[in-house]
Amino acid sequence: MRSPLKDFAFSTSKDTMRPFNFSAGPATIPLEVLNRAAQEMSNWHGCGMGVMEMSHRGKEFISIYEQAERLFRSLLSIPLEFKILFMQGGGLAENAIVPMNLSRSLEVDFVLSGSWSEKSFKEAKRYCSPKVAASSESSEFHDFPDPSTWQLNAKAQYLHICTNETIHGVECHDLPDLKAMGYNAPLVIDFSSHVLSKPVDWSRVGLAFAGAQKNIGPAGLTLVVVREDLLGHALAICPSAFDYTTVAKNSSMYNTPPTYGIYMAGLIFEWIKEQREGELSGVQALQKRNQDKARLLYETIDASNFFSNPVAPHARSLMNVPFFLKDPSKDALFLSQANERGLLQLKGHKSVGGMRASIYNAMPLEGVQALVAFLKEFEATQT
Ligand SMILES: *Cc1c(COP(=O)(O)O)cnc(C)c1O
Repeated sequence: MRSPLKDFAFSTSKDTMRPFNFSAGPATIPLEVLNRAAQEMSNWHGCGMGVMEMSHRGKEFISIYEQAERLFRSLLSIPLEFKILFMQGGGLAENAIVPMNLSRSLEVDFVLSGSWSEKSFKEAKRYCSPKVAASSESSEFHDFPDPSTWQLNAKAQYLHICTNETIHGVECHDLPDLKAMGYNAPLVIDFSSHVLSKPVDWSRVGLAFAGAQKNIGPAGLTLVVVREDLLGHALAICPSAFDYTTVAKNSSMYNTPPTYGIYMAGLIFEWIKEQREGELSGVQALQKRNQDKARLLYETIDASNFFSNPVAPHARSLMNVPFFLKDPSKDALFLSQANERGLLQLKGHKSVGGMRASIYNAMPLEGVQALVAFLKEFEATQT
């Protein structure tokens, strides 16, 4: 059988090049990392076992876990007063786990900036009394509400924001300084879809969580970074395995953690540490590369008469770029031609339609260049 991807145009060698995968998540992983995992699949570092087959309490896995935690802390410069938890359940489970641990069943604040923060808000209603401090729904979530407009509730136990709205392509580029706004409650951020794409100012954050399948590795692992002083207030109904205090006390080994996901995360963290852009390294290098990739793509879309992006320029996501064809009847043709060129999974989320290019850390500049070349060519043949 002939594969439609066999002859994609930019391929130089089948061993080193693959199609470019723009999936929003689970998403592309660097080929070097996949190859390394493949090599180590059945025999990790000569111990005679694959990582999936090891006890999570054995010395081999403990070393994998400690290395992953150390790298994550150092890549994001996470201060020691924050615990790093490796959990299961994904971002959606955290929508319940956060209020079960931090809300004390009282009032909490939310900023609504797209589908993900809306989902978090709805789930929180089951455990506490969430209030909307601000919403960009009236602009169809094409903007991130300006902090100067937020109606903060002095009684709230925390404020939840989603710092990168994966579906609407909206990013909060500067974390709000709640203390300077006269608000004492901690900031909770869902940074699932841009974790490790840039540094984080931890002085502004109380808790951050991220599902792994965008920028970290395989689905099934969730990272939680929580300031120690927020622990110890879980509701009685909170499952023990989801009580942050229990998870922290047991170094994420209260129950069996997602061991293979943690191993893969560790390999990704090593890959990030090795990234270079000029003088920059690690997350800073990726931030620069991500800015260059996003600028190229947004400039191409803005310069075109055939493609458009509706998000306010100051709130555009560097990770998820939704775009629309002027003539939606050409959507299917666009996707099939993109696929033939090795530009995969560009279809937009079903709730907003159109297209979406997710250009996470693992997407090289070459992938965005190939996409931009295709956009220009497609436009030229259609207009
Ligand atoms: C993907 C994603 C999640 C996680 O969803 P799960 O399917 O539960 O892993 C949560 N928040 C955001 C912003 C996301 O992009």
